[in-house]
Amino acid sequence: MPERLYMVIPCYNEQEVLPETAKRLKAKLEELIRRERIAPDSRILLVDDGSRDKTWAMISALHRKDKLFSGVKLSRNRGHQNALLCGLMTAKDLCDITISMDADLQDDIDVIDGFLEERAKGCDVVYGVRSDRESDSAFKRATAQGFYKGMKALGVDVVYNHADCRLMSRRALEGLARFPETNLFLRGMVPLVGYPSAIVTYKRAERFAGESKYPLKKMLAFAWDGVTSFSVKPLQLLGGTGLTIAALSLLFSLYSLLAYLLGWPFRGWGPLMGSLWFLAGVILAALGLVGAYVGKIYAEVKQRPRFLTEALLDE
Ligand code: UDP
Ligand code: MG
Repeated sequence: MPERLYMVIPCYNEQEVLPETAKRLKAKLEELIRRERIAPDSRILLVDDGSRDKTWAMISALHRKDKLFSGVKLSRNRGHQNALLCGLMTAKDLCDITISMDADLQDDIDVIDGFLEERAKGCDVVYGVRSDRESDSAFKRATAQGFYKGMKALGVDVVYNHADCRLMSRRALEGLARFPETNLFLRGMVPLVGYPSAIVTYKRAERFAGESKYPLKKMLAFAWDGVTSFSVKPLQLLGGTGLTIAALSLLFSLYSLLAYLLGWPFRGWGPLMGSLWFLAGVILAALGLVGAYVGKIYAEVKQRPRFLTEALLDE
């Protein structure tokens, strides 16, 4: 018996690409259903993340015309990670497997075949990994590479060059549902869920239409979120920095004592101001870092819902 697949596609102001994405996904799913690779009642679940354009109207129209399309609408814009989680948690009780993908056709739709092959071999999670980053700017490539390397150095288990294009089985989704955290960083959480997994590589294309919803500022915030949600190493490094500075200050004291005893000329104004400002900077930066973690704890203890759904279209 082929399994029931739900494609989960977060959409935020995607009216420019949605018709093309829907067309291509529909063709792909119909082909897979014909080849009996997935169950006939598989669906494309379009998640509207509180779009301000015609996205939801389009999703509703797609669903009215063709029951292959399902839709779920968040009560407001909650960001990509929350929208994706909303889609996965909605699909969890309706299907055997989900495959998540961006709405902008940057992920190669044919990667689904590879995903299903790995699933047939018994994998619960299949990660889509970009084989190259030709379609990205040199800057994005360099920052992304730095990010994955940095995460590894901090001891976080992330799959290199894997974004949120992946297959998850119902069992894995149920595991994910037991992670109650507010600070979502799915690509760090899914490896923690465990179960047998595999990697399938694909070439990432350029955005089909419309513009990126991830400007540099959001990208950096997301990376920072990933680090602080999964590693306390920065806090530990802080201790090390403090000790190093203390050791350096001993050297300075020794030097000034010698200078005093041996009558060396002692001109201290510049270095004094320098070290004063430097230390104040270090202390403030340290406070900021601790503050970042305190802020996360603050967000977690409030236990606010990660998303509210306004409407579900699924038949
Ligand atoms: N997205 C979302 N909510 C947001 C921002 C983005 O659901 O607040 C969706 C967006 O519609 C797309 C995916 O997240 O399907 C990735 O966004 P985008 O392609 O803009 O990011 P990029 O590929 O440029 O990093
Ligand atoms: Mg994109």
